[in-house]
Amino acid sequence: MKIKILGSGGGEGFPATFCTCEHCEEARRVGGKSLRSLHQALINDDLIIDFPVDTDAHCMKYGINLGKIRNFLITHPHSDHFAPISLVCRGSLFAHNLKYEKAFFYGPYGLERIFDAVIAPYGIDAKIRADIGFVEMSDRQTEKVDGYSVTALKAEHAPHLNSLNYVISDGVVNVLYLIDSGYPSKANLDYLCEQGYVFDCVVMDATMGYAPVGEYVYHMGFEENKLLKNELITRGLANKETKFVATHFTHNKAETHGKIEAIYTGTDITVAYDGMEIEV
Ligand SMILES: [Zn+2]
Ligand SMILES: [Zn+2]
Ligand SMILES: [Zn+2]
Repeated sequence: MKIKILGSGGGEGFPATFCTCEHCEEARRVGGKSLRSLHQALINDDLIIDFPVDTDAHCMKYGINLGKIRNFLITHPHSDHFAPISLVCRGSLFAHNLKYEKAFFYGPYGLERIFDAVIAPYGIDAKIRADIGFVEMSDRQTEKVDGYSVTALKAEHAPHLNSLNYVISDGVVNVLYLIDSGYPSKANLDYLCEQGYVFDCVVMDATMGYAPVGEYVYHMGFEENKLLKNELITRGLANKETKFVATHFTHNKAETHGKIEAIYTGTDITVAYDGMEIEV
């Protein structure tokens, strides 16, 4: 399985569009891996996770044709994860020869209502709207998504939005995708143990950066990533071969790519950047 991190930034991007803090100014100066767009991932070439406003730019940058992708997992409708305006162009005169007539958005309760509310002021062609399907997911629900088995887990994040994390499996490889989330609950970790998972890759929220452990329960920081890696290995949910990735960095709690890498030195946790590919 290939996981491509299309965007590795936190909620406002890094540098943040309107921000002149030291971290953003340094990121603009340094460029390269220190420039982080809004968070999105692509599994192989056929499963997208989240749909931020940077989706169109990601498709241009990485040569992705969304007309060839049927399935989308949405973690939660914060604006950096679900800003679906460009879906008004999925069909009619705007998109020809779609590989799949219908696209499916798997996500938490309330997603379809939010989609319709966001789109309402702009309007949408009736056929385009009819070809966008929603599959409601809730905690510990598993769905077959073409070649993948996808299990939703209640995220430690924005509970009023029913935020979800996902276990994505192709029958050989298991990925634990913890964006956005604070440190996973004991109940979820116990559940994953009961299911007998051994993860090949764990993608971890690092939004709180260098904040002290426990400062905010709805995102993780660098130290919580390190603790989580150790706990997953101790519980047998991961092993020496497991690839751990930290991502979703914000300008408020982190600096340039090189400085973030320095903090993770010796942990074998990979610091994500836009366009990074992980083979598992
Ligand atoms: Zn986010
Ligand atoms: Zn800033
Ligand atoms: Zn969020």
